[in-house]
Amino acid sequence: MPDDNQYSMQNPLTQYPQPPFPKQPQSAPGTVHDLQPAADHGETSYKGFGRLAGRRALITGADSGIGRAAAIAFAREGADIVLNYLPEEEADAREVVQLIEAEGRKAISVPGDLKDEQFCQSLIDKAVAGLGGLDILVNVAGKQTAQQDIAELTTEQFDATFKTNVYALFWLCKAALPHLPAGATIINTASIQSYQPSATLLDYASTKSAIVAFTKALAKQVISKGIRVNAVAPGPFWTPLQPSGGQPQDNIPDFGSETPMGRPGQPAECAPIYVLLASQESSYITGEVFGVTGGNPLP
Ligand code: NAD
Ligand code: MG
Repeated sequence: MPDDNQYSMQNPLTQYPQPPFPKQPQSAPGTVHDLQPAADHGETSYKGFGRLAGRRALITGADSGIGRAAAIAFAREGADIVLNYLPEEEADAREVVQLIEAEGRKAISVPGDLKDEQFCQSLIDKAVAGLGGLDILVNVAGKQTAQQDIAELTTEQFDATFKTNVYALFWLCKAALPHLPAGATIINTASIQSYQPSATLLDYASTKSAIVAFTKALAKQVISKGIRVNAVAPGPFWTPLQPSGGQPQDNIPDFGSETPMGRPGQPAECAPIYVLLASQESSYITGEVFGVTGGNPLP
């Protein structure tokens, strides 16, 4: 992939790999290194334009996938970053830390499980202490585990999916808000599943609908403080989430083929919308959900 992949005019259909892909089962939470073909997180392509100069950002799920792409983009736009991820994802996270530091920005790793309220509070405390404050909260972490039949969907899974995707969002926003100055932004990660749920994703799709409502309600509540809240709703993206149980493995060879573009998105194609929503360029935008779906429109 050329260095100017994201900036040279070209046909988006052929810009990135198209199905079929090999089957490639991984165990959750997975690693970017087992993706075939490799994903593009903007490592060699993303160019910064100073849009987040001096900002202090916390990004969850920053080791891989969409969160990794956002972290790389934010650093190149001038932000210092606290990264959260699960302890077993240290190897992926180390690479992101190195990429951030290569830009001369601060990178602080705070691994831990977002299903734990105490940890969420301590994550915000460490971010505020480590960065000297907090301007941007980016909630990207998520759990997605496909089940064919409601009979196979355990209470434990249902609970873990809601804890990771919804409760952690609540806990992190609640803990962060007292620290956020006017001009700060919160960006959540919904999904096309918020609107067009798959039969295999009962619990996950429900959490993603909840994230849309939470985003819109919180946006109305905190705009009086000058804080904006928006969400990004990706369609199919080429990340470890999918081959590590997010999809039945039989869906991996054709992953993304159901979109009008006929291919999955690459994380690098999602990062610019996070940058826009974090920056002052989006000053009149709050309570919105932005689809990045390869052509399947949101309602
Ligand atoms: P990913 O696997 O690269 O990222 C998900 C991250 O969530 C993991 O890296 C992990 O660090 C984090 N995570 C999971 N459980 C956690 C826990 N208990 N505590 C702390 N961190 C935890 O996959 P991705 O596709 O980049 O996912 C990022 C977000 O995008 C998720 O919210 C996902 O729901 C959403 N999304 C993805 C797609 C897609 O097709 N890949 C589509 C729509 C929405
Ligand atoms: Mg990961």
